Amino acid sequence: MENKIATPSETKKILREHNLNLKKSLGQNFLVDSNIIEIITAAAEIQGDEFLIEIGPGIGSLTQLLLEDLDSGKLLAVEKDAAMVAVLEDIFAGEERLCLLNQDALKINWEEVAAEYNPENRKIKLIANLPYYVTTPIIMGVLESNIELEQMVFMVQKEVGERICAGPETKKFGSLSVAVQYHMQPEIVHQVPASVFIPQPDVDSVIVSLTPYQENIYQEKVISKKFFFQIVKSIFQQRRKTLRNSLSKSAVINLDRDLVTQALEDEGIGLKKRGEKLSISEMISISNRIYKMRNNAETN
Ligand code: SAM
Repeated sequence: MENKIATPSETKKILREHNLNLKKSLGQNFLVDSNIIEIITAAAEIQGDEFLIEIGPGIGSLTQLLLEDLDSGKLLAVEKDAAMVAVLEDIFAGEERLCLLNQDALKINWEEVAAEYNPENRKIKLIANLPYYVTTPIIMGVLESNIELEQMVFMVQKEVGERICAGPETKKFGSLSVAVQYHMQPEIVHQVPASVFIPQPDVDSVIVSLTPYQENIYQEKVISKKFFFQIVKSIFQQRRKTLRNSLSKSAVINLDRDLVTQALEDEGIGLKKRGEKLSISEMISISNRIYKMRNNAETN
C-alpha cells in the first residue's frame, strides 16, 4: 500500500470501495491526519524488533505506520469488527509481520495471547487509538494482566487522559488516576482536536504514554491489593469528606471509627485531611496499616 491511509481522501476511498458504514456503537472515529499518527509512533520509540499490539486498527491508518517502523518485529492487531478485519486482510495482504485477530479486546486473555504470538519474548508495546466507549476497561484489562509492557501509547478522550494523569490535590485526581499510576507512569504527550477524525467525535482527545517505573514504587509495597483498592474507592466516593469520615463511613468496607483514628494518628496524617489530598504512597501506607490492625484485632 503506497498511499497513506490517514488522509480524508484515502480513508473515504477505502470506505467507499469496501462498502463500509462506520459504526458509532463501536467507536469508529478514524484518524485522517498522518502527523498525529507520527506523533503516536514517535512516542512509542519503536526500535523495530518489538512485539507490538494494536487495539482497534479499523482500516489500518495507524497499523500502516507501525509496520513502516517495524523491522524484524511483529504486530498483532485486535479488531472486534469483522468487516474491518476483511478490509485489513485485503490492504495488508502478504504482510507476514502482521497478525490480525478478530476479537473483542475486552475478552482477551493477554497472557495467552502473548504466549501464543510472542514466543520469542520480544519486548511488548501496546499502541492504540482506542474506541472511547470502552477505553477504561481495555486499559485496565491490559494493566491488570501479567504481561510485562515496555510501553503503552494510546489516544483517549481528553477528559479520560487528564484523569489518568492527574495527581493529588487536583480536581481530576480519582480512582482511575490511582488505578493506572499504581501500574505505570502516565504522561500526556499531545493534545488532539476533534477535527482530525472522520466522523468527528464530540470531544477533543489526547495521546497518553505509559512507561514502567524505574523501580517498583507501589505494587510491591501493597500488602493486600484488594483492600488497597477498597480504601481508594472509599476515599474517592466521598472525596469532600475528611479521611476519617470517608473511611469510617464507607459503603465499600466496614471500618471501625476508632481503628481509623488510630491508624491515621500512627501514620501522622491529620484527622481532618481529605483523602483526595493524599499521595498514592500515603494511601498505600494507610491501607497497609489498617489492614494489619484489622487482622491483628481479628486474631486476638
Ligand atoms: N485505529 C483506527 C484509527 O486510528 O483510525 C481506528 C480507531 S477507532 C477510534 C476504534 C477501533 O476499535 C474501531 O475500528 C472499532 O471497530 C474497534 N473496536 C471497538 N471496540 C472494540 C473492542 N472491544 N475490541 C477491539 N476493537 C474494538
